[in-house]
Amino acid sequence: MLSKKSIKACKIIKKIIKQYDKIVLIGHTRPDGDCYGSEFGLYHLIKDNYPSKEVHISGEVCEYVSFLGTPEIVSDEFLKEALVIAVDCGNVDRLADKRISSALYSVKIDHHDDSDEYADMNWIVPAFSSCCEMIAWLAFVNRLNVDKSAGTAIYTGITTDTGDFKHFGVTSDTFLICSYLADCGVDVEEIASYTGARTLDTIKYTGYIYENCKYTKNGVVYIKITKDIVEKYSLSYEKAAAGLNSIGYIEGYPVWFMAIEYPSEIRLRLRSKYEGINEFARNYKGGGHSKAAGASLDSWDDLDRLLSDIDNFAKESKQKHEFSDLKNAVEIKEEFKES
Ligand code: AMP
Repeated sequence: MLSKKSIKACKIIKKIIKQYDKIVLIGHTRPDGDCYGSEFGLYHLIKDNYPSKEVHISGEVCEYVSFLGTPEIVSDEFLKEALVIAVDCGNVDRLADKRISSALYSVKIDHHDDSDEYADMNWIVPAFSSCCEMIAWLAFVNRLNVDKSAGTAIYTGITTDTGDFKHFGVTSDTFLICSYLADCGVDVEEIASYTGARTLDTIKYTGYIYENCKYTKNGVVYIKITKDIVEKYSLSYEKAAAGLNSIGYIEGYPVWFMAIEYPSEIRLRLRSKYEGINEFARNYKGGGHSKAAGASLDSWDDLDRLLSDIDNFAKESKQKHEFSDLKNAVEIKEEFKES
């Protein structure tokens, strides 16, 4: 069940929201479903429960969940008189709008592991499956009305960030709160038809990934995506980045990643079946969650160093995992003997 600390945070955040007539919601750069779901979920919650408040979302567009809405450009004047609520963003550098310190007051709601307390009030709990799950509990604890628009946005964020309830962080609470959202009129089939939509180009691109991904000796599978590949398959960067999922969970390869060349940087999307990839990501100007993190490379010349480092990481994490399996087996055997 929700901790006392989280219940208290939910109540405080509601009180803060009630105090401000102008509110700006901000997520992270290159938003994903959880970021958009948190922004639009919170937007609809506030508009539905406090119709006189003026609320705007400042940030970038996320194409595959654009059915939830479109962020805006918020003026300096408005922001200076507003409460800013930052969602799903671990550190200031990743905020899609960096003007948070100009606001009258700021709140941060986030579930990243390496999250900084950059707002005036911070509710950070890495154990939550998604930031949207936190927004759902915020509504539930405060008995806020959740209309179909709010429920749709929040449910979209939970399903996209948990890979349809498959990832670490999903608990009985996650299912409990989703059952509550389902009662609010959320159409799960309609949401899946948006988030699962594929095009012929993305299918051909997936074929390219399978043919060109590489395997290291200690269990890393990776794909390098240059700008010309993104252009060749007529993809948005978002769709190209999503191709990472096709090389996940291959037996014997507990670490997988994509290095993708954006117009101004080379981004790394890193995944680990076991723990600790966010700590690894910090060596490459990144961070995130223990099993899903992001980072960057200064140039393709750095790829060889990364490959050697990540191969070592895979070797060590495999050994640690095998050791903990062995330790558990010994402990279970001992317990069995005693009983
Ligand atoms: P991605 O591969 O972009 O889906 O990122 C995986 C997770 O790591 C997400 O929760 C991101 O918010 C987080 N993340 C990605 N890049 C960074 C970064 N440079 N610094 C901190 N967190 C990041």
